[in-house]
Amino acid sequence: MTQFGRGPFGGRGDRGSRRGINPRLVIAGVVALFAIISFLSMRQINPITGKVQHVSMSPQDEIALGLQAMPEMMQMHGGEDRDSADQRLVDAIGAELLRAIPNGENNPYQFEFHLLADPQTINAFALPGGQVFITRALFDKLQTEGQLAGVLAHEVGHVIERHGAQRMAKMGLTQGLVGAVAVGASDSQVGAQQAAQLASAVAQLVNLKYGREDELESDTWGVILAANAGYDPRAMIGVMDILEEASAGGQKPPEFMSTHPSHGNRVERIKSAIETYFPDGLPSGLRP
Ligand SMILES: [Zn+2]
Repeated sequence: MTQFGRGPFGGRGDRGSRRGINPRLVIAGVVALFAIISFLSMRQINPITGKVQHVSMSPQDEIALGLQAMPEMMQMHGGEDRDSADQRLVDAIGAELLRAIPNGENNPYQFEFHLLADPQTINAFALPGGQVFITRALFDKLQTEGQLAGVLAHEVGHVIERHGAQRMAKMGLTQGLVGAVAVGASDSQVGAQQAAQLASAVAQLVNLKYGREDELESDTWGVILAANAGYDPRAMIGVMDILEEASAGGQKPPEFMSTHPSHGNRVERIKSAIETYFPDGLPSGLRP
């Protein structure tokens, strides 16, 4: 740390060029600037939410990427489940959720819902562009169709919010910054290592926080889509309890675990999303 402090970013001008400018520092600055500018120039308006986002790929790129990654993801979780009745239920609830998307006519994604045979890993996940998966292990833990709707709606939320593409854009940025720090520190072997470690720790922190926000944002989509499709969004709280119990039992943790917000945080956020979107209370006749 002290080495880093006294190194390229500290007082090196005495043995550097006469004008006191360290050329490595200039290069590092240019690399960092390039990373920041290219990140900031990646601005797109989300077709469904209307929010401005820093994303470099098009929805078509996302769809292609998701389709490319799909076979491997499926193979990792035992392939498609053989139970066609359960698969049909997943498809049917998925279709109801898609019809419940606000501004759904602007939806550029090609959603497909898959029940995977994996009986061990309690998991649900989504690839950019619309491939959504739930494992048999999680499916069997769920007690109501509303809970299934909540899980799938959460995953649809990740796709709509373009979390994958956003994260990739952000990783490009953080990698650029890591590179800049490494260039700047490269005249001292130890300093370079420390600098790179520091930069990567910062990068991880940024991405970790980001991941938590993504999950909470997707939980909000879980509430909105499930309720719009006629399911009681309070079923999402039941899902959280199931996930909490599963991870307490030493089971391999679901989806997101390293970036997971706490159980309490998520339940709070779900309750406040329900109050925000249904200020006059939930409509009657919702399915559990
Ligand atoms: Zn998630």
